[in-house]
Amino acid sequence: RKADIECRLVVLGAGPGGYTAAFRSADLGMDTVLIERYASLGGVCLNVGCIPSKALLHAAEIIDHAAHASELGIDYGAPKISLDKLREYKEKVVGQLTKGLAGMAKQRKIRTVQGVAKFVSANELEITADDGKTQLLRFEQCVIAAGSQAVKLPNFPWDDKRVMDSTDALELAEVPGSLLVVGGGIIGLEMATVYSALGAKVTVVEFMDQLMPGADKDLVKPLADRLKKQGIEVHLKTKASGVSADKKGITVTFEAATEGEKPAMESGTFDRVLVAVGRSANGKKIDADKAGVEVTDRGFIPVDRQMRTNVPHIFAIGDIVGNPMLAHKATHEGKLAAEVAFGEKKEWVARVIPSVAYTNPEIAWVGVTETEAKAKGLKVGVAKFPWAASGRAIGIGRTEGFTKLIFDEETHRVIGGAIVGVHAGELLAEIGLAIEMGAEAEDIGHTIHAHPTLSESVAMASEIYDGTITDLY
Ligand code: FAD
Repeated sequence: RKADIECRLVVLGAGPGGYTAAFRSADLGMDTVLIERYASLGGVCLNVGCIPSKALLHAAEIIDHAAHASELGIDYGAPKISLDKLREYKEKVVGQLTKGLAGMAKQRKIRTVQGVAKFVSANELEITADDGKTQLLRFEQCVIAAGSQAVKLPNFPWDDKRVMDSTDALELAEVPGSLLVVGGGIIGLEMATVYSALGAKVTVVEFMDQLMPGADKDLVKPLADRLKKQGIEVHLKTKASGVSADKKGITVTFEAATEGEKPAMESGTFDRVLVAVGRSANGKKIDADKAGVEVTDRGFIPVDRQMRTNVPHIFAIGDIVGNPMLAHKATHEGKLAAEVAFGEKKEWVARVIPSVAYTNPEIAWVGVTETEAKAKGLKVGVAKFPWAASGRAIGIGRTEGFTKLIFDEETHRVIGGAIVGVHAGELLAEIGLAIEMGAEAEDIGHTIHAHPTLSESVAMASEIYDGTITDLY
């Protein structure tokens, strides 16, 4: 069969990984095609992930600020919320970015093709458009960037619109009187923050013994305390087992994570339920076997340090290659894959990938965590600077935070860091840079940080570690 489209490099999927790979490929002069099933570029992150969730969290932050303003003698009264306007705001933010991407693709003369792509051989993809028409594309090289999707627990009635995944929750159809969030990870807690601020009574159940598994336990405590104050109910070591739906709502029964124990809550009826228990990779949906590309049982595609799959001219990047499933990991990999495909002798060199939960307070961590250091038996020194001793944190009434640095005891180099507190996600960047540059505690301590800033806490933690500060002032 004659190919309808031929190209040097094709990118399958236009999320952060895919569009970055396509842009870099075109910038390097390669004839590039970008395939995306949806009309809008940007993938999960721009359309139904990072960006809309942060737009809604911005609204939650404003509501929270206004609520606490009375402590300063400023009273805004109870918020009057127009969901239509808020939805419009979120859509405007998303639209601005996705239209921007479409413009950038056009500028680079990238051919974008809308449709669902599947491999038919190691050099061909078949693309099926919405109207059922198919096109055959022949490529020299391919970057698979087909991403991931929300795990849908099988026992939930998914045809009932009151049962939501994160995409549904971001649509903001209504503010339910009560909302159950199944899963206390980053996505579940971000959405819990939004819905609680908008006025829903939120309950979170988490299977593990702490919220946000992956982050050190001490980081989670200030967040858990604030969620409680805000009226969000949290039940740990709890599993949603049975579900039934009727006019009154969605009734969920719970079991303790440990067999034989009683759950903290036996059952509850909720107006809506959000299931946020993780995401699964899309590796099994693209007929990768027809190209000879290996896919694991869980739908991930194994790659080497150059992002190559087992088939040397086919690369894979982003959520589909494994954890952490984060946009900035996907973009970094996308750029690398395009450069290697072009012939550059590069490989993955980044030491660390930051994680941020945009909750209130934010939790951010990068590099080795204290839990990991203990589990691996690493010789580390840990220094913590409590924000209760920060003039800036006191001034803004947010002293619950702290900054923690983890140092290699032999080299005194920083190998990990974590922050809980407002703007933690922004503050974390300095620690990531310090780790990449092999900075020692003294290097950070000797760097003059502006006063009064929250970023000073990074320098203070370093000085606590190297003994320059023995008492907090
Ligand atoms: P995706 O963004 O999943 O894109 C894959 C694209 O491929 C999709 O557009 C899909 O339609 C397309 N596609 C798939 N199969 C085919 C096919 N066969 N044919 C054609 N097209 C196909 N990450 C962060 O770093 N920060 C955050 O704050 C953050 N917040 C999030 C909030 C939510 C609610 C969610 C769900 C995720 C969030 N993430 C966040 C994760 C982030 O969205 C992902 O890590 C990122 O989008 C992965 O990018 P990707 O390029 O691998 O794939």
